[in-house]
Amino acid sequence: MESLPERKVRARKIVSLLKRAYPHAKCSLAHQSPLQLLVATILSAQCTDARVNMVTPALFARYKTARDYANADIHKLEVLVRSTGFYRNKAKNIRAACCIIAQKHKGKVPCTMKEMLELPGVARKTANIVLGNSYGVIEGVPVDTHAIKISHLLGWSRERQQEKIERDLMALLPRKDWLKISDLFVHHGRAICIARRPKCGACTVKKYCLRVGLKKRKNGAAETVARRAAGFRAQPETADT
Ligand code: SF4
Repeated sequence: MESLPERKVRARKIVSLLKRAYPHAKCSLAHQSPLQLLVATILSAQCTDARVNMVTPALFARYKTARDYANADIHKLEVLVRSTGFYRNKAKNIRAACCIIAQKHKGKVPCTMKEMLELPGVARKTANIVLGNSYGVIEGVPVDTHAIKISHLLGWSRERQQEKIERDLMALLPRKDWLKISDLFVHHGRAICIARRPKCGACTVKKYCLRVGLKKRKNGAAETVARRAAGFRAQPETADT
């Protein structure tokens, strides 16, 4: 059974290899302000970043401040975000979150986890992305579908709930890598560790992956987790995934 210190050493090697493989990995949601990033991240739930980036230019051109969103006609807002899916809920949350930002935070997206979590439609993943990318405030690891899948495959977490996976990643990685690992997972998940058809032969971290390089380990339980994850069966997802 791999101890936590051993897993930390392995994690350090994996992060280093992923950084080398994806030197320009960063948040792929187009934005120019914390407010734009918040709106884009809310829209990215159950949707690709590419699709969100197609929708946001028209949205950002029409609504420039939190007050603009707060005063938006909900039907017009819904039409603009429709193609991202779950559009009624997303439009409602964006407007409600911006009402709070306009009234309670003088139009500025808050910069603490506590205040972020008070905004409708914002859970820890969204808060971590906005705080980390906009303010350099690193309070946790953004855990999206890529992070769930690859964490299981690498044997970094056996948990199913996002918050528990986040806790495992925070225990495993130094704080300086908490935001970066999320971007690296997204890039790796898109390019190589693709759901249901991972290109393990071309994977830069295969030597350290529980599914491939460490397959001969005697630890049957750990292997079972990896094999289950390798099937990439649907993970429990929240609106924030
Ligand atoms: S070796 Fe395969 S399963 Fe493991 S991280 Fe790489 S692509 Fe994913």
